[in-house]
Amino acid sequence: MYDRYSMVADDFIDDGEINETLRFADENKHNRELISSIIEKARNRKGLEHREASVLLACDIPDLNDEIYKLAGEIKKDFYGDRIVMFAPLYLSNYCVNGCVYCPYHAKNKHIARKKLTQAEIVAEVTALQDMGHKRLALETGEDPVNCPIDYVLESIKTIYSIKHKNGAIRRVNVNIAATTVENYRKLKEAGIGTYILFQETYHKASYLELHPTGPKHDYNYHTEAMDRAMEGGIDDVGCGVLFGLERYRYEFAGLLMHAEHLEAVHGVGPHTISVPRIKHADDIDPSAFDNGIDDETFLKIIACIRIAVPYTGMIISTRESKSVREKALRLGISQISGGSRTSVGGYVVPESDDDSSAQFDVSDNRSLDEVVKWLMDLGYVPSFCTACYREGRTGDRFMSLCKSGQIQNCCLPNALMTLKEYLMDYASPETRAVGEKVIQEQLQEIPNPRTREVTGRHIADIENGERDFRF
Ligand code: SF4
Ligand code: SF4
Repeated sequence: MYDRYSMVADDFIDDGEINETLRFADENKHNRELISSIIEKARNRKGLEHREASVLLACDIPDLNDEIYKLAGEIKKDFYGDRIVMFAPLYLSNYCVNGCVYCPYHAKNKHIARKKLTQAEIVAEVTALQDMGHKRLALETGEDPVNCPIDYVLESIKTIYSIKHKNGAIRRVNVNIAATTVENYRKLKEAGIGTYILFQETYHKASYLELHPTGPKHDYNYHTEAMDRAMEGGIDDVGCGVLFGLERYRYEFAGLLMHAEHLEAVHGVGPHTISVPRIKHADDIDPSAFDNGIDDETFLKIIACIRIAVPYTGMIISTRESKSVREKALRLGISQISGGSRTSVGGYVVPESDDDSSAQFDVSDNRSLDEVVKWLMDLGYVPSFCTACYREGRTGDRFMSLCKSGQIQNCCLPNALMTLKEYLMDYASPETRAVGEKVIQEQLQEIPNPRTREVTGRHIADIENGERDFRF
């Protein structure tokens, strides 16, 4: 029985409700009147319910689809301006006891090299990431209580925050580890993590059980209820996502939004971010073996509809996607991207060759961070290395209420410009720096509050003179 307030996964991700939603969306995919009214409702920038958003996703009237894309672009611009937040993944360990059939780290894969970084190797990886200019990391590990226990993850976080190399520092560590206990979430919170990220993979329980045949991850309810335990443990920024391609995308879309509605209903705060990975080729994984792959057009429609449904939730796209898909996705709603990523353990110090890969997936966008930063600026965006909210304690509902009231805009652009300036001074190539200095001068004029504009300008001059780490 569907109940968004329930703490039981089968109730807040109720299969009957999703199927009824899909039936309703299908019946109304040509219903011009209903679709127009949903688009009108979405114009108030307060989001949509999963049924309404599912109708937009199903809509097959071309001119209304154009309106959906246009509105997604406008909402993106309203909430995020031209800013794009940059991050990089850091793989700590690929030991894994689970049997996920779509991931090369599954326990039965005996020929992939298993690695776990020592603390000294973490220092080397993070130093390499700092030398690229990264300030925000997403830690990735497989699940293995023996080879990769929680204490190892906690020690690694401590190591990462302690590394200060030249002007570099990692200022926010997000963590993507397997579903765990409230006690362990509490420990992660105490270690100072930013967002706890856990992909649902699929919300379809029967498929989930088949796709995760062995290991602790087989327990669908434990996995699906992980965000509730994380919030109980004090982590108020959580990141959701599904792996598109495993199940029917419309099912996943409805499930994802129902999960967001559940978190909002129970904890008063929805997901901080939503990621949209698609299944990719990797060692012993052939994406064509999965029947539910989606083409680029469908993928972009999903992004646009998520943007409209949850305007205040950050959206993340990784280097799984090509440059051209990322470019289109940025216009429709993506607010964070990775750059210069390596998806293998130890890959920043010793890049692997294509035929000797222990990467979790093949990267489609192989450009360096400097190239990605310049590309973004050439497209009219402002790459941001900002981590201010987390460091000012603006997390969870404090962050969301600022965001929903539009007040967050008064912090984001100045912080983006100051962190971009740091990047240009410390890491950029001369070409990127030249473009970036122009972007900063132009964008400074876009700061609405004169006092904030003046202070930002002063801090940018201070950064030029060697000072670092200003924030609003
Ligand atoms: S998806 Fe995660 S849990 Fe599953 S095999 Fe890969 S690393 Fe392990
Ligand atoms: S000010 Fe907060 S919301 Fe804005 S970019 Fe920085 S961390 Fe993100």
